[in-house]
This record gives sequence, C-alpha cells and structure tokens, in this order.
Amino acid sequence: MAKASPIQPEWIESTLFAQHHIRAIFTLRRGGISQPPFDSQNFGIGLGDPDANINENLRTFIRASALPSTPHQAIQIHQTSTLWCNGSGSSHPNEADILLSDQPDTPLAVRTADCLPILLADPNTGITAAAHAGWRGTASNVAEHAIQNMCERGAKKADILASLGPCIGPCCFQIGEEAATALKNCTPSASEFVDNCADLRQINRLQLLQCGLTDTNIELINACTACDNKRFFSFRRDAGQTGRHIAVVAIASKP
Ligand SMILES: [Zn+2]
Repeated sequence: MAKASPIQPEWIESTLFAQHHIRAIFTLRRGGISQPPFDSQNFGIGLGDPDANINENLRTFIRASALPSTPHQAIQIHQTSTLWCNGSGSSHPNEADILLSDQPDTPLAVRTADCLPILLADPNTGITAAAHAGWRGTASNVAEHAIQNMCERGAKKADILASLGPCIGPCCFQIGEEAATALKNCTPSASEFVDNCADLRQINRLQLLQCGLTDTNIELINACTACDNKRFFSFRRDAGQTGRHIAVVAIASKP
C-alpha cells in the first residue's frame, strides 16, 4: 500500500531575524489537516474546526520548524494589554494582544487572518515580543506599547529588530470613516497611508520609526492576505469563515 505523503507545513521565515539566530516565522495556510473552510494549517480555536485538528497542526508545525517548545498564545481583543511569558507555552485564558518574554526557549505567537502580526526582538538582551495589530490595535499604538514594555526590561530601541508579516494590503483593506480618522491620527505622517483604504503595514512601520527603531532593523513581508487565496486565510475575503495563521518569535538557549 502506498504510504500517504507526509504533511509539510509551510511558512515564511524572517531573513533579518535569522541573521541574529532568532526565529521569526509566519505560517501559511498549506500543510495542515483541517478541512474547508479552515484548510488546512489552521491555528484558530473556537471557530468550528475541531480542537484535535488544531492540536495536530501545532504538533506538526513545531516538529517541522524545530521550535524549542510550544508557543504561548492569549485571547486577542484588539487592545494593548500585555502578557509576560516564560518557558514552554500554552493557550492562556488571559486577554492580551502583546506577548513578551525575557527568557530563551519561550516562543510567543499571535493569530491573524488579515490583521498585521508584528514580531520584535532585541538580540542583545534576548527580549522578544509578538503583537497583534488590526486597525483598532494600530490606532491604539500597539506597536509602541510593545516597544515600551521591552525597554522597561532593558531592551534598547536602536537594537530592536521588527518583522511585519503578511496582512491585508491597501489593495483590499477598505475602511470606514471611524477607522480612517483613528488611523490618520495615530502617528505623524500616517495620513499618507490612509484614504478609502489603509496600509496597516506602513502605518505600523511609521510607529516603530517614531519609537526610535532604525529603518534597517524593520523588515516588511509584503504580501496581501486577501489577494492571495492560495497562501493565506483572509477574514474579510472569506466573510469570517476561515482559519487563522500564527506568527511566532523564538530565541533558543545556547547549546
Ligand atoms: Zn490585496
């Protein structure tokens, strides 16, 4: 009997972080076992996909990507509250759109399907953060909150690396007046990237520059989740019936 071909989880890995021996990974939708409309590498719990599928997707992904342990996750509510984490992770009952750690072997993850995942790391102190930025989080300066929290534990703004992952692009992200007004006012020059549509990636980049990060330490993964049905889940394109990606940052302890 022919053996079923092994499932190969797919992801995009940050080249900027890799230069510093830090993992920053954005999963793609292919390479899991979930069935439509969650096909197939879904990490979103409570959406209708059986938990057993999500747990299997996670196990397969951790093994294939050689992450040091299970990522920490929290309940995301489009705000700026934080959760400091340590060691091997789980899905916490806490509400937090910013996960942080100052320990190695502590992968941090946010879930997205159009919102912008922001991964941050200071290679010198080993402080990491993962933030979830939709338009509400962006308008609340979630990126700046993440940086402030990192710096309170000793990270230096000029050293912090940022990778801004796949999200809905300005080609597809039509917004209403409330969102437009909030986004235009969240950081200087943001209005350049807001009209009927908004560019979440560029607005968050401006916020990080405004915080004191350097342009060379900010990486943009220029992919639109709504345009690319093959690689990405998109909440807006799929009218809410879709899976979730995870974006994971992790520093492994030195051998
Ligand atoms: Zn698009």
